[in-house]
Amino acid sequence: MIIKIDGKECICEKGETLLTIARRNGIFIPTLCHHDSQEEGMGACRLCIVEINERGRKSVVVSCLYPVNSEIEVETNSEKIGRERRMILALLASRAPESAYIQKMCRFYKVPQIERFIKVDGEKCVMCGLCAKACASLSVGAISTVNRGITKMISTPYGDPSSVCIGCGSCAKICPTGAIELTEDDQTRTIWGKTFDLVHCERCGAVIGTRQQIEEAARRSDNEPDYLCDDCRKERMAKVMADTYGFDI
Ligand code: SF4
Repeated sequence: MIIKIDGKECICEKGETLLTIARRNGIFIPTLCHHDSQEEGMGACRLCIVEINERGRKSVVVSCLYPVNSEIEVETNSEKIGRERRMILALLASRAPESAYIQKMCRFYKVPQIERFIKVDGEKCVMCGLCAKACASLSVGAISTVNRGITKMISTPYGDPSSVCIGCGSCAKICPTGAIELTEDDQTRTIWGKTFDLVHCERCGAVIGTRQQIEEAARRSDNEPDYLCDDCRKERMAKVMADTYGFDI
């Protein structure tokens, strides 16, 4: 099937989302809550809205959730989309005024300050939920959405240090607005109010993760914990192969 995005013909399969098709064809659509590591879109930030024209009928859809089922024409940056995207960004900026990334996007899209939007002072989180989804996809589920309305937030149960968090830092890495605080020195990592010991590679001394993270990986693969970094593990594997098959490395 062929659809047109910003005038460019794009080949696609039925059911693929518009965002996937656009990205594959090098067409930029801004997103906050989408991450390639997560199979499904969330449609939480709404920044990826686009305008579609289906047999003369125009509508605005959220591209990360919209499955293509007919030969539509798409505009990613029409006047209407530009106007609505600026409004969405203004709302996100008032929800998370401390996020440097959102401020950068606001400058790029020339978003005006809208006085009637009440700012949530000191906030960086836009409540997209990507962090909780990432944690759940690791089958940990240490964080989730709590409260409602303006007090809605992502937290561990009761805001206490979580008994199940392994300190992997995936939630902080995937957060699009830098809202999750992770501090680290050579020996420890602190996240969600809990401090973890860091483990170093037995051969080169590089940090390879928290003790809980390594033990959990070992438990899932039904192996003993491996205290080597990726590079040293590859070297060890190469040496085993060389010894086994008698060639030099
Ligand atoms: S650091 Fe904790 S809360 Fe964050 S993804 Fe890892 S296990 Fe989940």
